[in-house]
Formats: sequence, structure tokens, C-alpha cells
Amino acid sequence: MEASTAVAPPPQRVCPNCARISYAAGPRCPYCTARFSSGRRVSPGMLAAAVAVVLVGVLVMFFIAGRILEHRVDDRIEEVNKDFDASLNRFREDVKKELDARIPATGAGTVPTPTPLPTDTPTPTTDTTPSPTATPSPTTTAEASPTETPTTEIRP
Ligand SMILES: [Zn+2]
Repeated sequence: MEASTAVAPPPQRVCPNCARISYAAGPRCPYCTARFSSGRRVSPGMLAAAVAVVLVGVLVMFFIAGRILEHRVDDRIEEVNKDFDASLNRFREDVKKELDARIPATGAGTVPTPTPLPTDTPTPTTDTTPSPTATPSPTTTAEASPTETPTTEIRP
């Protein structure tokens, strides 16, 4: 059995009280006997609090961004609706003007009668599509029995 020769070196630490480097592995400084980790350790409660603060910040950012986006979308929808209404009104007025301009031109209030369309279009009624009903279905029922025993008996 071989003993492990690679021993980890002692930690190099700086005392927070006397600022001297010590290589002692103990919890206290060998020079002034002050504790190394005195109040500098992060407790799980602090960690959870930090995570909660970050999460709340991110949520607030998302909320604000959502509000801004919603306002923008609302503004855009309102703008589009206004544009659509304006164009619709313009179209209506154009149609009205066109009708007002067209009615007196064709006579004194006579509605132009539409020309009757020819309705009797000859429809070909020749049913010459042959319906093939006799579909030849090959019914091959030839069963090949490969195990055919020879019937020739050989008698001594
Ligand atoms: Zn010290």
C-alpha cells in the first residue's frame, strides 16, 4: 500500500484583524487569535433573500415592459382603426358622388335596365361514359402443394 504523498498545502489566509498571512488550518489566527470567518459567511437566509430580490426585480421589469407593450399595441390598433374609418368614409363619399354623377347622365331618373343574360346554354346530356362493371378478377386458386410424396412403391 502506498501512502498518498500529494498532501494538500495548508490554506493561505489573511487575517481580517491583523492582516497577516497565516498558513494555519485552524479557525483562528495564530497571531492575534481572531476568528477568520467572523460574520463574513453567507447564510442561506441571505442567499434566499438575494434570490427573491432579483426575482422580484425581474418580475417588475417584465410587468413594466408588458404595460409599455400593451400601450403601444393599443395605440397602434386605435391608429389603424382611425385610418380604416377614414378610408371607409372616403370610399362611401366617392361611391355616393359616383352614383349622383351617374344617375342624371342616363336620363331623367330612369334606371338603366340590365340586359338579360342568355340563360339557355346548351348542356351536353350525352351519357357516353362507359361504366366498366366487368372487372376481370383473376381468381387463381391453384394451390401448389410442394410436399408431394411419390407414390411409386418399391417392392423388394
Ligand atoms: Zn490575526
